Amino acid sequence: MKQNLQPYVFPGIICQEILDLAISQIPYMRTAQFSDIVLDCQRLLLEFINCKNGKVIFGTCSGTAAMDAVVANYVTTKQKPMVLDGGAFGHRWSELCTYYNIKHSVFNTPYAENIDYNELETQIINSHIDVLLCQHHETSSGQLHDIKKISDICKRHSVKLVVDVISSFLIEDFDMNELDVSIAITSSQKGLNIPPGLALIFLSEDCSTEQFAHNNYYLDFQENLNNLTRGQTPYSPATQLFLQLHERLKIIKNQGLETHKEIIASKAKAFRRKCVQYGWVMPCQTPSNCVTGFFITSDIKSVLNDLIAQGIYIMPGGQPNYLRVSHTGDSSVQDLECLADTIYNTTLKY
Ligand SMILES: *Cc1c(COP(=O)(O)O)cnc(C)c1O
Repeated sequence: MKQNLQPYVFPGIICQEILDLAISQIPYMRTAQFSDIVLDCQRLLLEFINCKNGKVIFGTCSGTAAMDAVVANYVTTKQKPMVLDGGAFGHRWSELCTYYNIKHSVFNTPYAENIDYNELETQIINSHIDVLLCQHHETSSGQLHDIKKISDICKRHSVKLVVDVISSFLIEDFDMNELDVSIAITSSQKGLNIPPGLALIFLSEDCSTEQFAHNNYYLDFQENLNNLTRGQTPYSPATQLFLQLHERLKIIKNQGLETHKEIIASKAKAFRRKCVQYGWVMPCQTPSNCVTGFFITSDIKSVLNDLIAQGIYIMPGGQPNYLRVSHTGDSSVQDLECLADTIYNTTLKY
């Protein structure tokens, strides 16, 4: 691997002080000191997502395992779920329901387009659902859903709301109490900008006292909640990731969450100015600040391989000739502008 690797993917460039925590000796985790770290992480996470008196279940796994655990522990206790499928990640909710033999309806929404919220409401009424599973940001396209509108519909029809905020947490505004969200999930390698391997499941105060099903031994909600009261996980936690998570949360707390989000937004804006300049089409009707997706006309495989040879990683997307650039991580507006210039010069070769 190159020394000066430039990853504009997930998690993005990670600052040295957080990277250093991964190469230190590992403290024992069954201690009051480690419990304090877990509980302080929970406190800051709940503050950032505004989930008063809620709980955070920490899993040593990636985000999909959190989706899996939500379906196994929670969705199986409901009568009729609906999945909002706006791309690869929305589709995953549906696959999980099928995996657990849960009858569910699916609301398909066209790639990168805004949802028809009137049609969504009509289908919710007609399907008599009791829980809606959706994404806040469909990362595969870069399209941001209007979570306020979705929440209002759910409130009007007493539908519980579960939101995958894996790629919008700490990037877009998301207020769990205000939106009356029962469960939100995220993972370490997106907005948190630390290595992959930690999944976080936020339970609202009301939801945390519900009766859960027991279909998933490792991520059994009740067992995890019992251990959480003493700041512990039932099984060996990814200790270093917890230390990195704690450091990240303290950095954001000191910087201010709003400032943190504004910096990411300014990078998205700068990169999109460059896309316009280079004539790259951005299909998303409501793009998130997390990634910018755009079409190029050159051979995409050659472009990606050439960039890798230059030490630069960007992502392909769910469509032919679609590229995505992440705005998470320790990069500057200027870095993003330089990146666009480098991508442009590389496309000229193919
Ligand atoms: C990345 C992502 C996931 C999957 O997370 P993994 O950590 O790769 O399992 C799920 N949903 C969304 C919206 C994502 O961006």
